[in-house]
Amino acid sequence: MAEVMANELDPRFKFEVAARLGGANIKRCFACGACTGSCPASQAVEEFDPRKIIHMVILGLKERVLSSPIMWYCLLCSTCSFVCPQDVRFSEAMAVLRQMAVEEGYVSASFQERLQEIESLSQKLRAEMLRSALTEKDKKKKLNLKQLLEDASEKCI
Ligand code: SF4
Ligand code: SF4
Repeated sequence: MAEVMANELDPRFKFEVAARLGGANIKRCFACGACTGSCPASQAVEEFDPRKIIHMVILGLKERVLSSPIMWYCLLCSTCSFVCPQDVRFSEAMAVLRQMAVEEGYVSASFQERLQEIESLSQKLRAEMLRSALTEKDKKKKLNLKQLLEDASEKCI
């Protein structure tokens, strides 16, 4: 994490998050890292680290968290919640952080609409690729992922 300045710290931040539905358990985190180890977004985007985001919330780095583009990489898949020994429910806390970012003007409503379009398109692409892959499941040849993606894109976009 980049150097933290004392005037950046907002000690109320973690309480604001904890007061919202879904954020109540954020302070329970003891930084074990199981969430990060299981997170598909972390595997795809190196800088995305749920443990680090929680740490920043607990420290009080409100502006840094809410203005960060990184939190929009979360898939809200809840995998982290299943492995968390402290029942932090990070995916729910992430939804809270996003809501706060919208309310406080860090992102626009149109950005949220675009994000939903991306989520919807990526689900369609995944479904089409799987459909094609499943038609080949009994064949021994290696799947051509690039071709699968191109074919799926033609159908979905
Ligand atoms: S798995 Fe739970 S306790 Fe461990 S770092 Fe993640 S949120 Fe914190
Ligand atoms: S909800 Fe977000 S942080 Fe949790 S495992 Fe899924 S992508 Fe990672």
